[in-house]
Amino acid sequence: MINLSIIIPIYNEEESILKLYQELKKVLSNLDMQYEIIAVNDGSDDNSYRVLKKISQNDNAFKVVNFRKNFGQTAAISAGIDISKGEIIIPIDADLENKPEDIPNLLNKLNEGYDIVSGWRKHRWKESFFTRRLTSYIANLLISKIVGLKLHDYGCTMKAYKRDVIKDIKFYGDMHRFIPAYAMWYGAKIAEIPIDHEPRQYGESKYGIGRTFRVLLDILTVKFLTDYLNRPMHFFGRIGFWLFFFSFLSGISALCLKVFLGISLILTPLPLLTVFLIVIGIQFILMGFLAEILIRTYYESQNKPIYLIKNKINF
Ligand code: UDP
Ligand code: MG
Repeated sequence: MINLSIIIPIYNEEESILKLYQELKKVLSNLDMQYEIIAVNDGSDDNSYRVLKKISQNDNAFKVVNFRKNFGQTAAISAGIDISKGEIIIPIDADLENKPEDIPNLLNKLNEGYDIVSGWRKHRWKESFFTRRLTSYIANLLISKIVGLKLHDYGCTMKAYKRDVIKDIKFYGDMHRFIPAYAMWYGAKIAEIPIDHEPRQYGESKYGIGRTFRVLLDILTVKFLTDYLNRPMHFFGRIGFWLFFFSFLSGISALCLKVFLGISLILTPLPLLTVFLIVIGIQFILMGFLAEILIRTYYESQNKPIYLIKNKINF
């Protein structure tokens, strides 16, 4: 019986894998637990798969899931979770940014009676304050406020989960960082501890500044899905009523100006433009929500997986 599953999403990390494996082994063999390490090769173009295969030949506890193509970090983690057996699940980045030595700390905290213990890379991004540290700080603050769960580092892959609380959560897009938010919604108890962190040594980050915007959009979706999924009309309807209200106000004031002051409605195009842009913006956001719902129907009604596995080793 396996107690602990370590899950590693891997996209072009050939230089880091072996070192990570050795560090993991050192830590895991000192724990009194039955463990498995599941490496998910997310369509790497480099030698990652060959390195993984080699390791798996000498170690039965090291299992490999090989994707057909690059499906993204969320899909990789999700596949690892689906296929894992452990009661406790800990995903960890492949690039040696997370330190396996923190695993015992996460486990100890979990044993205090939590369902999820989230890692917090307290000293991350010291080098690039404005592009990384500040944006990450603001994003985490925003997520905490909106979701109602205060975490310093939603983006940290390294978190310890009890299987019970995440087995029913479905993953989409880039959403792995919101697992705690969904879990909280289902009543999970969540804690956070600072963990060690080292800047990436080999290869480069698979994400750029564009991620910030994607995360901000994801926050809106999470908020919408947790608060309004089973009563969307309260959401759409409220916006609708406010729009009616403002259009009533603007209509009345336009009429008043015309009737009492004789000011023509068409003296400047600016009011029209403003209204036009706002309306379109709102339409876009609302359509985004509709699309989110549709995409869920699409996947769930047809039981489509968000990833495709080419082969597996040691299962
Ligand atoms: N990753 C992945 N698929 C992707 C992008 C990333 O499996 O499409 C893995 C990557 O190999 C690494 C982890 O996800 O193990 C985190 O990626 P990265 O280090 O680039 O993110 P950052 O640390 O910059 O947030
Ligand atoms: Mg990294």
